[in-house]
Amino acid sequence: MVAYENHCVGCTILGMRCYGRSCVNRRVPVLYCDKIGCPANTEGTDTLFVVGDAELCWECVEEIAERNGIDPEDLIEREVETE
Ligand SMILES: [Zn+2]
Ligand SMILES: [Zn+2]
Repeated sequence: MVAYENHCVGCTILGMRCYGRSCVNRRVPVLYCDKIGCPANTEGTDTLFVVGDAELCWECVEEIAERNGIDPEDLIEREVETE
């Protein structure tokens, strides 16, 4: 899952120029693994992969692949893109 979160912390206070509504920090994409219990489910991750109808982190993809005795690359449909 990709969530867009507001990470604007009053950029002007930090000496950065803030564009208000169009502030780049207002809509920061954060990738969360769909598997409950996975650390990336709550903390987020850098990369997500589409596997069936789920979006999973690499660790979860590897785990499923191992359990099924297949190559992780064969499970992955594509990498999740952010804007
Ligand atoms: Zn800002
Ligand atoms: Zn995961």
